[in-house]
Amino acid sequence: KEKGNEGFVPLYSSWEDFYTRNVYIRIRDCWNRPICSVPGERIKLLERSTPSFGWAFSMTGNTIECINMGSYNYLGFAECFGPCADNSIAAIDKYGVAGCSAREDVGTTAMHLELEELVARFVGCEAAVTFGMGFATNSANIPALVDRHCAVLSDSLNHCSLITGVRLSGAFVKTFKHNDMKDLEDKLKELVIAGHPRTRRPFQKILIIVEGVYSMEGSICKLPEIIALKKKYKAYLFLDEAHSIGALGPRGRGVVDFFGLNPRDVDIMMGTFTKSFGSAGGYIAGSRELITFLKHTSGGMIYSAAMPSAVAQQILTSMRIIMGEDGTGEGMRRIRQLAENTRYFRAELKKRGFIIYGHKDSPVVPLLLFYPTKIATFGRFMLQRGIAVVVVGFPATPVKLGRARFCLSAAHTKEMLDRVIQATDEVGDILNIKYSRKHGPNA
Ligand code: PMP
Repeated sequence: KEKGNEGFVPLYSSWEDFYTRNVYIRIRDCWNRPICSVPGERIKLLERSTPSFGWAFSMTGNTIECINMGSYNYLGFAECFGPCADNSIAAIDKYGVAGCSAREDVGTTAMHLELEELVARFVGCEAAVTFGMGFATNSANIPALVDRHCAVLSDSLNHCSLITGVRLSGAFVKTFKHNDMKDLEDKLKELVIAGHPRTRRPFQKILIIVEGVYSMEGSICKLPEIIALKKKYKAYLFLDEAHSIGALGPRGRGVVDFFGLNPRDVDIMMGTFTKSFGSAGGYIAGSRELITFLKHTSGGMIYSAAMPSAVAQQILTSMRIIMGEDGTGEGMRRIRQLAENTRYFRAELKKRGFIIYGHKDSPVVPLLLFYPTKIATFGRFMLQRGIAVVVVGFPATPVKLGRARFCLSAAHTKEMLDRVIQATDEVGDILNIKYSRKHGPNA
């Protein structure tokens, strides 16, 4: 601090703030611009009117149409035509746009109850409860499940909504290395044997929190091993299926379906409707006892307005299609198409020498750029070739592990994917980002 300047509050309180503001403004420059269409397999973005920083857009400006590799539209339900659109419009006619009340007051409609029954059946649990926002499903329910007498073991790459929930709960927290079962077991053992490090009392509950598919890595959690460990140490398991529900498993029922496990072995099954269902909100599924408890204790249930009708109806329609209840076979077709697109796209990029993270069946495909300076340029060069792709850097990733993140959809055609692969190949040569020694051009 300079002398005489003690009262001065710096604009950036930390290096993170400084980095985020300055580097992200440049990333916004190429990507984070208003969209002017449905976020389907194609997307319309607003052209910038003036080459300046921040949010200087002309709302009447031209739009550019791109192939959309940025939205989490895994099963192509964001397109919202046909039965999805018709049913949601009918729901607005019947119930209006908003519920204008919390579920506990006068916000629960017959549609909410029907949805909860369907979600429970879809994920294979006794009961389910839904919330208007995926983020709040985690941040408002974890504090209802654990408190300062409990411990949480959290994967080091867990999503911000999970971290927020854990911090709000006041539980003692330990993180374990991403998907590292030895580290998880070591830490579980330590918590069970030593108890709370300050009071030395045993913890009332130990909750392991993991995700199905990690959205920055494209990795799939090692669920069979995690279930074995939670049973061995008598811990509870919270599984966030935001990116795996609908998108993974032969019947699209998430990571449990992918590994062929019993859903009842997961104590708390959480997921969001913002990805595979093309809607909004989140759910928690589990035993009837758990769901009744959450309905009466969760802040997200008692103090937050109910999920809007059109949103609930979009989930009902898309979930029934995925489950094959419309009798058309469209759901299974989309699940298989997503799996095929994912494998093809990943293999083609690898062949060209890019470093691609994650499991071969993960529809989130991170392409490593490494250098912060290449992040914005990659996004901009792809946009010039008609491809919209999200680029990610610090603090969402470590500083030196910047990446582009492609999200596959069942709605992408082979021609679209080939165009994206060709554009990535061109930009890859310009930016010199084909780093793989095994598969790269110099292999
Ligand atoms: N959990 C995970 C793992 C997520 O990735 C996200 C957001 N993408 C959320 C929860 C929050 O969901 P929503 O965007 O539906 O609020």
